[in-house]
Amino acid sequence: MTEKTTFDYIIIGGGLAGMQLALAFCEDAFFAKKQIAIIEPEPKKDNDKTWCFWEKGTGKWDKLITHEWKNASFHGPKKSVELNLGEYSYKMLRSVDFYNFVKKELAKHANITWVVDSVEGVTDQTVLGKKETYTAEFIFDSRTTQNFKDDDSSTTVLQPFKGWVIETEDDQFNPSSFTFMDYRLGHNRNTCFTYVLPISKRKALVEFTFFVPELIDNKIYDEKLKEFIQGILNIESYSIHEVEEGIIPMSSFPFWCENRNGYHKIGTGGGWVKASTGYSFKNVERKVAELIHTLKNNTLPKAGFWQNRFRFYDEVLLNILSTKNEKGPEVFERMYLKNEAHKIFKFLDEETTFAEELKIMWNTNRPLFVKSVIDLLKR
Ligand SMILES: Cc1cc2nc3c(=O)[nH]c(=O)nc-3n(C[C@H](O)[C@H](O)[C@H](O)COP(=O)(O)OP(=O)(O)OC[C@H]3O[C@@H](n4cnc5c(N)ncnc54)[C@H](O)[C@@H]3O)c2cc1C
Repeated sequence: MTEKTTFDYIIIGGGLAGMQLALAFCEDAFFAKKQIAIIEPEPKKDNDKTWCFWEKGTGKWDKLITHEWKNASFHGPKKSVELNLGEYSYKMLRSVDFYNFVKKELAKHANITWVVDSVEGVTDQTVLGKKETYTAEFIFDSRTTQNFKDDDSSTTVLQPFKGWVIETEDDQFNPSSFTFMDYRLGHNRNTCFTYVLPISKRKALVEFTFFVPELIDNKIYDEKLKEFIQGILNIESYSIHEVEEGIIPMSSFPFWCENRNGYHKIGTGGGWVKASTGYSFKNVERKVAELIHTLKNNTLPKAGFWQNRFRFYDEVLLNILSTKNEKGPEVFERMYLKNEAHKIFKFLDEETTFAEELKIMWNTNRPLFVKSVIDLLKR
């Protein structure tokens, strides 16, 4: 039984978003007197995810990263291109290194309590756990709720994937360059691609990923990974060291609609996953910084304050992937062949001007994008 059950802040879920938020509270003297609990059922001791993200120059997590790349290639169904990453690096961080680091940091702060429990419900300022009931002035909740699972009015595309960390006996990889997307191996006219992240000359994470409206039979992933490694990478002999799999929801669902005074959704459950890409690691860092700023200056975040034009762009692409999934490979091929990758990264980070955004969309697949915009405006 946990001794303390009343807190100023409760964070439900000690995953990526919960841990980053707790760490941000610890790093800011403003919150030093706040009593904060993280409620998490899992020990968070395993490497359950490999996070990759792009960023310019040095970053907050550099001491934890496994590998970084400054070069990348893209293979469309017809053409290939070396990507110009500009000032960006692409970085890989193993979740276990992140969990160990954050847990160690949190343990240094007496105002943080790590509670092992599973939350079954939240009513007003009360959190009902399996073991205990807790109360807080403010609750941050990273669970994805039933409302999202039941919703059929938003556009949702799933990003299911499976990856193998493979090792070879001979030098097979170039660890200074990674494959961002490779569309040469398709499956039933779906949008699917392979991602290759070489960590050394003999070790790489190879991942087969779909962007699809419905889940794909589980056995396909192993078949595709084998086919890609043998047929495209031309590697006959290798061993599989780790397996990673998951499903990332990419959705236009208004996750913030559940926010209210004293209760705020965070992480995937708060819509912090970029809807058109499934990337979330850097978004979490940005959203946590906004949340900290708002709490310090405004006391309570307002529902919906992150809505902007980028949500519309995300929905335009989601609508194409959801209604014309077979067009995805062609759309991405044009996008990465006709635009420099660093400009696309800036766009996906939502840091571009309106003129830059129009240029990227203009260069990509005008008729398809215009049709998708009209479809959405008619809804
Ligand atoms: C395998 C995988 C690989 C990914 N790779 C990348 C990547 O390379 N780059 C990128 O940007 N994004 C990536 N993502 C997407 C995203 O970054 C991750 O899903 C990220 O972990 C989302 O953070 P989160 O805090 O919302 O969820 P999580 O990290 O999953 O944390 C949620 C936490 O809530 C806990 N929880 C669940 N139910 C309860 C409950 N009832 N009570 C209390 N706690 C509960 C869970 O145990 C978990 O620890 C990946 C996702 C997956 C699944």
